[in-house]
Amino acid sequence: MCDKGRGMCICDGCKAYFCTRHFNEHRQQLSMQFDRDVVKIHDDLLEQIHSVKQPNIVSDDLCAQIDDWETSTIVKIKKVAQLARHQVIQLFSQETQSLTENLGTVADEIRTLLKEDSFAEDDIERLQLKLNQLQKSLDQQSQTENVKLIIDDRIDWNRLIYAEKQKGKEKKSSAIEICFPLSSILFNEKGHFYFRISIAL
Ligand SMILES: [Zn+2]
Ligand SMILES: [Zn+2]
Repeated sequence: MCDKGRGMCICDGCKAYFCTRHFNEHRQQLSMQFDRDVVKIHDDLLEQIHSVKQPNIVSDDLCAQIDDWETSTIVKIKKVAQLARHQVIQLFSQETQSLTENLGTVADEIRTLLKEDSFAEDDIERLQLKLNQLQKSLDQQSQTENVKLIIDDRIDWNRLIYAEKQKGKEKKSSAIEICFPLSSILFNEKGHFYFRISIAL
């Protein structure tokens, strides 16, 4: 501040009076202060934001874990599907197996009778009856669906794996978590398997 200066200038900010020379110095100081306290702080902040964004390592890591989950889940589903196919084939072959066995005993009898040429009317009637019964069983088997598929479609696929922001108590830490509860029936897991990954950004 000047007391002897002529051509007084007043600074609108601090309401102080200056001579021209000191006013210019004051302006220079202000501009340095502006640079230090505003522009530089802004630039620092911008840099920090970029450096936080840059570690795509974090999101890459989470994505890699999702990839792993995807692969292992597909493997599990394929295994279960293969098992179900096996069950279908086995259940159907069980049905026809007993019919084949019964028809086999009839065939033995037919062969014996033909070989010995010893059949009479009652043999024809008896064997005819047996064959009719077997025919009936076969018709019934193909008519009724003894084997049916039980599919559990209660799986909420959108909740099977998902990412969400963690409500962390620590200040300045924002985190993302990936959750994948697995369906108990489909994946032979007891209860829900809950996987949690937390990474502070
Ligand atoms: Zn001033
Ligand atoms: Zn002055």
